Amino acid sequence: MQPVVIAGGGLAGSEAAWQLVRRGIPVHMFEMRPVVSSPAHRTDKLGELVCSNSLGSDSGDSAAGLLKEELRALDSLIMKSADAHSVPAGKALAVDRERFSQFITDTLMKDPLFTLTRREVAEIPDGPCIIASGPLTSPALAAKLQTLFGQDYLYFYDAVAPVIELESVDMSVAYRKDRYADGEGGDYINCPMDERQYQTFYEALIAAERAPLHDFEGKAEYFEGCMPVEAIASRGRDTLRFGPLRPVGLNDPRTGKRPYAVVQIRQDNAEGTLYNLVGFQTNLRWGEQQRVFRLIPGLERAEFVRMGVMHRNIYVDAPRCLDGCLRPRGMESLFLAGQMTGVEGYVESTAMGAVAALGVFSFLNGLPQPQWPVESAIGALLFRLKDATNPRFAPTNANMGIFPPLDEKIKSRKERHEKILSRGRLKFLQFKANSALFFSGPGEE
Ligand code: FAD
Repeated sequence: MQPVVIAGGGLAGSEAAWQLVRRGIPVHMFEMRPVVSSPAHRTDKLGELVCSNSLGSDSGDSAAGLLKEELRALDSLIMKSADAHSVPAGKALAVDRERFSQFITDTLMKDPLFTLTRREVAEIPDGPCIIASGPLTSPALAAKLQTLFGQDYLYFYDAVAPVIELESVDMSVAYRKDRYADGEGGDYINCPMDERQYQTFYEALIAAERAPLHDFEGKAEYFEGCMPVEAIASRGRDTLRFGPLRPVGLNDPRTGKRPYAVVQIRQDNAEGTLYNLVGFQTNLRWGEQQRVFRLIPGLERAEFVRMGVMHRNIYVDAPRCLDGCLRPRGMESLFLAGQMTGVEGYVESTAMGAVAALGVFSFLNGLPQPQWPVESAIGALLFRLKDATNPRFAPTNANMGIFPPLDEKIKSRKERHEKILSRGRLKFLQFKANSALFFSGPGEE
């Protein structure tokens, strides 16, 4: 049988390779390291962790925890290695990074169906293929992907504003209104500031601690059109009031007056449960974002499901480029995997490696593409990659806001989350029990 080509031996590529070889499908992986190195990787190992050694929460009461459960149920190689090489980290799953990637490398290398070539892929391969070259895809391959998708649909930089849960917004302070529209109501929610509140917010913002930018990320041209909010603020006390915080056309319907400044938030998911802070791309440290942005009237108790980030990150505009099964639209046997599909995080990238592998497996066996249940963590992530509500797609991680709402109204947040997670667990198990994809490999629960 012709081997499936996998470009990139990171987290997604290694997981995809594992899922295929254990189903009897030969894999030929191309990994450019150490011949060509990425700006962040340090070793030649497969499945190297480029930064933190934490894979995030492993708690059963979180979306990240559910995602890990689902991967374990798929006999994930990445999770197997993480569990075998974990180090104490409270409710998080942290690992000994050396042993973690050594185990992944050794496991794949000893599989007779696995071949590794240390070479940069500079063309999109023909035949069944998974491109899993990650957020730091080499420039040659990135250029080919740009040609494939068109330059408006492949992003090179992540400049993302924080996303919060709508229900944590204090609507006794904030109000719905679109700019220049009469009365209340509209798509935007506005958080009004008086002069004193603006001053307090402004001073906290310009003094807040920023995250360091890596050399390879810091080029000023990356920031065109997505200047961090703290950088705009540093230009002068009123620059924000004439920019993203301008109050004109946003009179507060309760007072009839124009606020001194207004922070707008805008719907971020199809269900309308998540909102992003408009114009708040930021490079502040995560703890600082929560502290400073909670000074905004109406957001004092905001629950952040995703923090703002700015870093080099090659990813596609998934809702407009992919077919819902991680294939570029109109292509049958080419799949993307990992962070470049528009997810963010080690485990999310791994999950998109497993999804791509099962997609290829289905294609090779003449099966329909798997329909991952949207209530499961994997299915909910995939749904986000199809959700074209947001005109400017931003990568997503596993958080409680990605799941479809429950049919019943439950007031207690904790109870609601528990129900959402148990529903996801059940749907995933039903999917797995009823799918032909899961009968062919040893080791699955
Ligand atoms: P990778 O793990 O990067 O794997 C891609 C592989 O493809 C690499 O081995 C690379 O060498 C190879 N490759 C690239 N181009 C080619 C080519 N043309 N031919 C052949 N091989 C190629 N997520 C977290 O959860 N926690 C963090 O702390 C974290 N820190 C990050 C720090 C940085 C600097 C970056 C860029 C991202 C970070 N992420 C983090 C996000 C993301 O989860 C990781 O980048 C994750 O490794 C993505 O998995 P992947 O398999 O998609 O890509």
